[in-house]
Amino acid sequence: MCGVFGAYSPKGNAVLEEVYLGLYALQHRGQESTGIAWLGENGRIASIRGNGLVHAALDQGELALLPASCAIGHVRYSTSGGSDLGNAQPLISTTSRGSVAVAHNGNLTNAEGLKTLLESRGAIFQSTTDTEVILHLVAHQPHKRPIDALVDSLTRLVGAYSLTLIIDGRLVAVRDPWGFRPLVLGRREDVWYVSSESCALDLVGATTIRDIEPGEVVVLGPEGPRSLRIPLDAKTRRLCSFEFVYFARPDSVIEGKSVYEVRKELGRRLARRGPCTGADFVSGMPDSGTIAAMGYAQESNLSHELSVVRNRYVGRTFIEPTQRVRELGVRIKLNPITRVLSGKSVVVVDDSIVRGTTCQRMIAMIKSAGASAVHMRVSSPPVRFPCYYGIDTPTRVELAAARMNIQQLGKEVGADSLEYLSEEDLVEAIGLGESAVCTACFSGKYLEEGGDVQDVTL
Ligand code: AMP
Ligand code: SF4
Repeated sequence: MCGVFGAYSPKGNAVLEEVYLGLYALQHRGQESTGIAWLGENGRIASIRGNGLVHAALDQGELALLPASCAIGHVRYSTSGGSDLGNAQPLISTTSRGSVAVAHNGNLTNAEGLKTLLESRGAIFQSTTDTEVILHLVAHQPHKRPIDALVDSLTRLVGAYSLTLIIDGRLVAVRDPWGFRPLVLGRREDVWYVSSESCALDLVGATTIRDIEPGEVVVLGPEGPRSLRIPLDAKTRRLCSFEFVYFARPDSVIEGKSVYEVRKELGRRLARRGPCTGADFVSGMPDSGTIAAMGYAQESNLSHELSVVRNRYVGRTFIEPTQRVRELGVRIKLNPITRVLSGKSVVVVDDSIVRGTTCQRMIAMIKSAGASAVHMRVSSPPVRFPCYYGIDTPTRVELAAARMNIQQLGKEVGADSLEYLSEEDLVEAIGLGESAVCTACFSGKYLEEGGDVQDVTL
């Protein structure tokens, strides 16, 4: 999972600090590396990239002093390609028709095939990311105008891509024809913004204008905004349902649906699947299960209690994973409140079970604090299949729900009972219709099997 952001001021106002702030608001989408690229006065693209969190990798004060009025940024969570800085984005290339920078959220499923074809025609890849394929495809069409070359290149891609680019001296935003990943357009005064999520537009004081449509290419340049289409006829839309379950921030709105409201509805529907008799209260796993737990509590007329506290200052890099730290397990991050849990039968809600490790540790922790029973409730269907569209899920054999049935899994994680949400409930809670969302990690129904993709050609 990654996040992208972009800003362009036709009046020439400086936007780099806002891109920094936008990335800051998208930090939950990727913590591994970050970067910003901007259009310099000479028409060349400059950039800064670094490992780790936005505030540690980039210097807000320095960025604020630079006069650039067209910029893009990225926060990275590695899925395709390794985690070295060479894979940090935005990626930049210089073609005979000028420089191009790209920041990508999503994962291309035909990147390997395209890479082989491009290499057979002399392309030399600098990184191991799928994103670089896009730059090479553009560079291979020097006879075309850069934006035409881009649109043509997009017709070769299969999979998930929400992009921000600097190309032909303009800010360009692209969403793949299936609409896997969210992307929104915003505005404040003369400045146009593009962001993975609307929460980042709120942070820079911009108004959300609309979602970039699946298959749309929005060009923001001196001539005003233009909307182009990728000439591909996608049969289905596939907005990632996991964005609503876990990834997106609850203060974001995706395709008109409030992530917070959907998450609460997931909890309500979970409660309707069968009352948990004898439970004293409901508690959400911090923070991922909290909102669904509120919905569950509301629907089942139980109180919602905070029973485990999260140290909100624990970053990914603060504590070295020594053997001693491993033995201490998740307690560095989380600590149960014994007075709340002692002798109680608790419904614990979390958004998902992937490998099953988190849930197992949490249940052990809650029981060690004296809970008499833990009824585990999961506000998504069982994750049985890997994601190939930009979310870092393990292989099938590592997915707990693929390895065993629900009863066995309940036992394995130490729950007194375990219940999941149905796929139907998930789709209905999102409210966009079955043909509008991707549920492949739950159902195994991948885009590539639906007859909706073309062969790789150049
Ligand atoms: P586990 O079952 O131990 O793999 O952890 C599952 C928990 O990690 C869920 O409760 C989510 O809060 C979170 N989660 C779900 N999917 C992902 C993912 N792809 N990357 C990181 N965390 C995730
Ligand atoms: Fe989202 Fe799952 Fe589809 Fe991946 S497979 S895009 S995580 S719904």
